[in-house]
Amino acid sequence: MTIDLEALYVDLHEHPELSFQELRTAAIAAGHLRDLGLEVTERVGGTGVVGVLRNGEGPTVWLRADMDGLPVEEQTRLPYASTARGLNPQGTEVPVMHACGHDMHVAAMIGAIEQLASTTGEWSGTIVVLIQPAEEFGAGAQAMIADGVLTRFPRPDIVLGQHVTPLPTGIVGVRPGTQMAASDGLTITLYGRGGHGSRPHATVDPIVMAAATVMRLQTVASREIDPREMAVVTVGSIHAGLKHNIIPAEARLELSLRYADDSTRAKVLEKVERIVRAEAEASGAPVPPTIETDHTLPPTINDADATARLSAAFDREIGAGTVLDPGMFTGSEDVSWFAREAGVPLVFWFWGGVDPAVFAKAQAEGTIDRDIPTNHSPFFAPLLQPTLRNGVQTLTVAAREFLD
Ligand code: ZN
Ligand code: ZN
Repeated sequence: MTIDLEALYVDLHEHPELSFQELRTAAIAAGHLRDLGLEVTERVGGTGVVGVLRNGEGPTVWLRADMDGLPVEEQTRLPYASTARGLNPQGTEVPVMHACGHDMHVAAMIGAIEQLASTTGEWSGTIVVLIQPAEEFGAGAQAMIADGVLTRFPRPDIVLGQHVTPLPTGIVGVRPGTQMAASDGLTITLYGRGGHGSRPHATVDPIVMAAATVMRLQTVASREIDPREMAVVTVGSIHAGLKHNIIPAEARLELSLRYADDSTRAKVLEKVERIVRAEAEASGAPVPPTIETDHTLPPTINDADATARLSAAFDREIGAGTVLDPGMFTGSEDVSWFAREAGVPLVFWFWGGVDPAVFAKAQAEGTIDRDIPTNHSPFFAPLLQPTLRNGVQTLTVAAREFLD
């Protein structure tokens, strides 16, 4: 029996599910893992799935794939483009798309486990597969940890994971040290005093307060952080008001903050808080603003020795020149919680999903940013093959490298 991985990928792509709602995806993954002979536990940390493949003495390798989609309306025009809709946590109907490629992660994982389960004579040890929910909330890994993933299943000696990315197919991007930035998601509520739009003097307008705050926050990274440090302050959402002639009572901002290390994080958080409070005070806010942390993601730090070992394995098993250092990415991941909590090394790498000819043309013309859709774009679409085949191979090679 061979699993039709392309059909599996297309099916997952057509049926994306939002974070912590991945019931269908989880059931499909669990079914395949069970068919391949793994001990499977479902509903770990909400919708998570854990599969254990025991094959004698040896190291325990954790392989992690995330599985959630995003509230994005797909515009790829692929024959298998998603038309799915879902309900976000606020209960609003939204389009849903696998705009980050987590469908590719799940399909590649099933393919790698198929390879590993059919070659048990060639390795020994234990493989633990994590099909993780809600990476896009930055909450799924911690939910699985809170549900006992480190105590209910064999503990890891190493944690491995991979992400599909807009590099040319056939290329693996990985670097020792900080591979991805740390991130915090904040919700800030600014309080004013509502009233009639014709009588602004009798109100404290939270929309003006929010506008001033948003502009001033732009100076954190550009004026207050040493240019040699990496810091990003993005206001990704701003909500206030319902009608032309009503000044609302409050405004809400959602911020995404990024940094390469913990000391920059402390500085950025302190400056954001200072500006938010001072702008509210400058506006005469009747009540101080509230600042809530929605998620905190640690930096994704690749273990230097394990990364060197893995890069050598990729070059040896897949071909010289396969691996390049893509630099640090300002995006963030929650995969490193598993390794941090277990106190073991992590290696998290990126594999390419873009037609090399298309990539080379954009590179020659200097239009990569414009012409190559990145993760989370409504146009993001990894080339089905050889991307899927390559993802199976990288995960298989990596697992084998750290098993006996
Ligand atoms: Zn993503
Ligand atoms: Zn992702």
